[in-house]
Amino acid sequence: MNLNFMKKLLFANWKMNPITESEAVKLARASDVKNAVLIPPFPFLKAVKSVLKNASLGAQDVFYEEKGAFTGEISPQMLKKLGVKYVVVGHSERRRLGETDEVIAKKVKAGISAGLKVILCVGEPLSVYKKGKKATEEFIKKQLKFIKDKKNLIIAYEPIWAVGTGKNANPEDAARVARFIKNIVSVPVLYGGSTNSKNTEIFLKKKEIAGLLIGGASIDAREFQKMIKIAERF
Ligand code: PEP
Repeated sequence: MNLNFMKKLLFANWKMNPITESEAVKLARASDVKNAVLIPPFPFLKAVKSVLKNASLGAQDVFYEEKGAFTGEISPQMLKKLGVKYVVVGHSERRRLGETDEVIAKKVKAGISAGLKVILCVGEPLSVYKKGKKATEEFIKKQLKFIKDKKNLIIAYEPIWAVGTGKNANPEDAARVARFIKNIVSVPVLYGGSTNSKNTEIFLKKKEIAGLLIGGASIDAREFQKMIKIAERF
């Protein structure tokens, strides 16, 4: 069965922040609500998990093998054992480092097979966005080409030009792309890209948008709490 959210969820991608475990624990305590998924850097997963009473735990990436000679990689089984429920795959900041759609598809498959819920990030660069709707749709369709498993899959629509730039997508456009994605894969679709407490409501109001993948605003405890308050109304 495909995933179906009861509530709109906020996924907090802390990226490579904060620097220390004690800061991570403090942020986790301040963000610990039921409709949040906290996604800290790998070294803080265990400490964050140990203080969570309500929020779920996520990881920022995963490898597609179970174990072996893969220096620097982390397997889905290792994440499961730490209490990780969600994993982000194909974030634009990882694609920028050379990750391909083929590798990403292997990670999606391995994550789902291990029982993780996988958040697959897709989204167009500015050059494609500037060419218009059709070009954006073609681009995203290609990113979804290798995806076979839909069970426990979530797609995050994150236009690359909106991630960490302060320029969020037009909510109408985000909803239209979310609809386009749902027509292809029929799974929950998140929006991500410069969301904050000022635009949370307008994105969550869109019925096609199941929640938000939040970067910068999620490491500002006050800002994230404001976003949580808004999301609780949906
Ligand atoms: C992200 O990291 O997925 C993201 C959307 O970042 P930001 O909210 O900072 O744009």
